[in-house]
Amino acid sequence: MTHPIRLGCIADDFTGATDLANNLVRAGMRVVQTIGVPTEPLNAELGAEVDAVVVALKSRTIPAAQAIAQSLDALHWLQAQGAEQIYFKYCSTFDSTAEGNIGPVTEALMAALNTDFTIATPAFPDNGRTVFKGYLFVGDVLLNESGMQHHPLTPMHDANLVRVLQAQSQGKVGLIDHRCVAQGAQAVLARMAELQAQGVRLAVVDAVSNDDLLRLGPALKHLPLVTAGSGVAIGLPANFGLSANPSASQLPPARGAQAIVSGSCSTATRGQVAHFIASGRPAFALDPLVLARSPEAAAKVVAQVCAWAAPHLASGPVLVYATAEPEAVKAVQAQLGVDAAGALVEHTLADITRGLLALGVRQWVVAGGETSGACVQALDITQLHIGPQIDPGVPWCHAHTPVGPVHLTLKSGNFGSPDFFTKALAQLQH
Ligand code: ADP
Repeated sequence: MTHPIRLGCIADDFTGATDLANNLVRAGMRVVQTIGVPTEPLNAELGAEVDAVVVALKSRTIPAAQAIAQSLDALHWLQAQGAEQIYFKYCSTFDSTAEGNIGPVTEALMAALNTDFTIATPAFPDNGRTVFKGYLFVGDVLLNESGMQHHPLTPMHDANLVRVLQAQSQGKVGLIDHRCVAQGAQAVLARMAELQAQGVRLAVVDAVSNDDLLRLGPALKHLPLVTAGSGVAIGLPANFGLSANPSASQLPPARGAQAIVSGSCSTATRGQVAHFIASGRPAFALDPLVLARSPEAAAKVVAQVCAWAAPHLASGPVLVYATAEPEAVKAVQAQLGVDAAGALVEHTLADITRGLLALGVRQWVVAGGETSGACVQALDITQLHIGPQIDPGVPWCHAHTPVGPVHLTLKSGNFGSPDFFTKALAQLQH
């Protein structure tokens, strides 16, 4: 019998969920991340003593009605696990369309939780996201000057979060500004009461440092719902009597062969692939144009990769990668189409992942957000137990597959140091 969880989290995308889970673990919570809303209770082995569960949705840019339905499903599952408080996690750049989904999902969760007040703040000072007077800064510039104004799906043209959130909410939006936060939790609680008396239902909260977030934490203790980026998470475990401790991130010992699967073409990943190859370890490059010739040709490549990897696996990690320079990616996309090229590479890497699992690989480094989704699905993984951080935002995880337990780390494109692949696998041995 698993014990009830304390904090139930709903994240609007996969790598954002991991980011939140990582912060909770570092602040002392034992955390499981689920891929989508589970259809059953927590895996008894993973969830025996878990303080928080993060349900990873893919709801950031889908129609608001669907985002609401999925978020409410997640809420009901988390409530069934005993969650005492709900945390709706969105991106630290407040990624949303003019229609939502941050406002609509927040208000649907408030209604379901029967609460008429919550907060909203994407502040994550460790990552350069700060909120001052309601304005969101990314590094040294306002959100709408940070490049986010050009985002293909969620262009952000206004850095004033009170305005942005008001435009997508029915209820009144207010501000708890930095002067108040700086005075501590009592002042924040008094301001919350004041705003509620004025009919405000959603309060954007300023925070420019981790100290601000830690001061804010105690003021959130009695809110049924908190909405935020991953930053606010550092101040919540203390409300449940938990503090940073190494056992929160402890995973079972790793065993089995090691592999790195990379479908990310981001700058950081390209450096990591080059670094690994330069270290002299075996690496196999996939050519999307060969894969595109026919399904048989792609299947042949998968068999080739497995035959190539088998003798190497006994002596250390192998790398299989589709990672390529921007010009090469553009050339492939011009011939195959952007979506078709992406899907073809993802399917092939998923097939290779299954092949390597059959060869005894039990320790995985996966590079790429979409690639991670494909590989996790290939491994038939639905729940991840979150372990120690390797680099900011990227923890080791432990999970069950149909053939037994595996360790894996899912690295989104631009995360991690140049030696991330070897560093991660070496860390797991200790
Ligand atoms: P990131 O986290 O860096 O954005 P993703 O895995 O999310 O990485 O996205 C990379 C996308 O590029 C995937 O859909 C992947 O299949 C695709 N891809 C990988 N290598 C190539 C390539 N050589 N040519 C074209 N597309 C590629």
